[in-house]
Amino acid sequence: MRYLILSDIHSNLSALEAVLAAVEGKFEKALCLGDLIGYGPDPEEVVSRVRALNPVVLRGNHDRAGSGLTDAEDFNPSARRAALWTRDRLSTDNLNYVRALPVGPLAVEDFLLVHGSTFDEDEYVFEAYQALETLRQTSHRLIFFGHTHLQGGFVLHDKKLEVLRIHLKEKSEAAELRLDPDARYLLNPGSVGQPRDGDNRAACAIYDAAEAMVEFWRVPYDIELTQRRMSEAGLPEALIQRLSFGR
Ligand code: ZN
Repeated sequence: MRYLILSDIHSNLSALEAVLAAVEGKFEKALCLGDLIGYGPDPEEVVSRVRALNPVVLRGNHDRAGSGLTDAEDFNPSARRAALWTRDRLSTDNLNYVRALPVGPLAVEDFLLVHGSTFDEDEYVFEAYQALETLRQTSHRLIFFGHTHLQGGFVLHDKKLEVLRIHLKEKSEAAELRLDPDARYLLNPGSVGQPRDGDNRAACAIYDAAEAMVEFWRVPYDIELTQRRMSEAGLPEALIQRLSFGR
């Protein structure tokens, strides 16, 4: 089975459409690690587009705040403004869909999906000790996580943890990682709608379970279109600018 793995789309329809066009015909089942909404200009359209994929999807912290399940008190001011703006833009049907999204971890075949970590959907797994803690919570060999918006992750082999950073050249669209059966992996497909690893292209991954292979993708999209729509919506300038830098 070939899985498309999306995370942190953040209401960026232009980025989502570009990713889906790039990987069309290359996957059989879509998985989504949460944060469909928040930050970007098109929450309603993004939720509808994701739903049309009939994916396995779990919720992220922005889905929780953007659908009003919790307040956005712990968000920074820009993120909070975007969360409150988002709430008023979702149809009742899509709002209910987002509210009902399951909390991770969620198992698919023999691998695991989480938004933050295996024990906290709000945890940013940046550091090696956090990766070890989250791997320790489960016996799964392969875990996909999101939330940090950084493509790559961690590999544990022979009790040694290696940080995996994906740096794709401007022209190349995908990097392949062949999975070692003796290693354990905590992998982040990167963010579709608000990358923060210095590459402003939309990110995603494809996991080929039969081949034990993960492809990390980067797809250019119309950043200016998303930024224009954010300006028209009156969303915070800092959120608009950061898309140019991928930070
Ligand atoms: Zn996010």
